[in-house]
Amino acid sequence: MAAPRPLALADLPPDIAALIVRDGSRCAWCSRRLGLAVDDCTREHVIPRSRGGHDVLDNYLLACRPCNRSRRSRNALIWLTSCERRGLKVQRSLVEAAVARAAAADVVTPAKLSKRAQRARRKNQIRPEASGAGGRHGRSGSDE
Ligand SMILES: [Zn+2]
Repeated sequence: MAAPRPLALADLPPDIAALIVRDGSRCAWCSRRLGLAVDDCTREHVIPRSRGGHDVLDNYLLACRPCNRSRRSRNALIWLTSCERRGLKVQRSLVEAAVARAAAADVVTPAKLSKRAQRARRKNQIRPEASGAGGRHGRSGSDE
């Protein structure tokens, strides 16, 4: 068996590599340095897919697999507080920036929101579906 060579960005799935370039290679929730094993890096959805969150870079954070698993689909900011309470060294500014980015990029499919949330959205934003955007967010690989 050859000794493991350091992981190169080119070895990683493109969206994981893009995340590392943008945010660095630490888990958003526990600050553990990732990258020793490809399997360890996961794309954490800021707005969970179960809540309509899209598979796009603007809706991702880098997280280690255990953190990604344990968060499930909890709200990112509530989970942030919960992690801090448990003594984890959360990358707070990174998570907060990601939440703001996801909100600004409109990474949610309205149809998946509750009726009440849809009404609130309509009230707050009077604009037609962004033209050209959406529909072509390539899904690649497996996901949690
Ligand atoms: Zn972690």
